[in-house]
Amino acid sequence: MKIFFPPDVKRKLDAIIQVCDIEVSLLGKVKKLPRRPDFVVTGLELFRQECSEVSTELDSEALGRFFSELLARGESLEDWRCWIHSHVDSQVFFSRIDERTINSFLGDWLISICVNRRGDSACRLDIFSPVHVTCHDVEVAVLLEPDAALLEQAKAEVADKVRKKPFPIFFDDDSVPLLPGYRRYWSWEEGLEEESDYEA
Ligand SMILES: [Zn+2]
Repeated sequence: MKIFFPPDVKRKLDAIIQVCDIEVSLLGKVKKLPRRPDFVVTGLELFRQECSEVSTELDSEALGRFFSELLARGESLEDWRCWIHSHVDSQVFFSRIDERTINSFLGDWLISICVNRRGDSACRLDIFSPVHVTCHDVEVAVLLEPDAALLEQAKAEVADKVRKKPFPIFFDDDSVPLLPGYRRYWSWEEGLEEESDYEA
């Protein structure tokens, strides 16, 4: 399982983290990718908050106001299931206060990401219902959409430069017939026994 950030969302996050000298919280809008166990953070919001140098506690009043704004915009609160917070220049991990914050979220599941200004991140997924389980060490990555022009260029370059070499098949048992063109086999006792036509 991975949590992907499209490049523009990641740049926005990095910019806020870089310019903020105290711990700060953001909420991310997430979407599960179809047919794979991965999520994409499609939006990011910095809401009004009070943070200290060493802690960010999500103030329920501030969150309430933020959620009201989202509702007024016609957003579904269900989608805002990613809590991101910064440890500024310290190591990334989930402190006891962070655990408390995570446990205070309403909803069935939550993705939490702790980041710092060195570019480190720690990510976990908490599923609260029917029992609380935590998936630790979830990978965070940037989602790069395939570039049509680059794909075409790559296709031409690979066709020009990359050749498939027949893969030699070896047998260590004489009773197994060899494929035409192969005259060698690998024996664990004897090592390489004969040469192949394909390796002149
Ligand atoms: Zn923290």
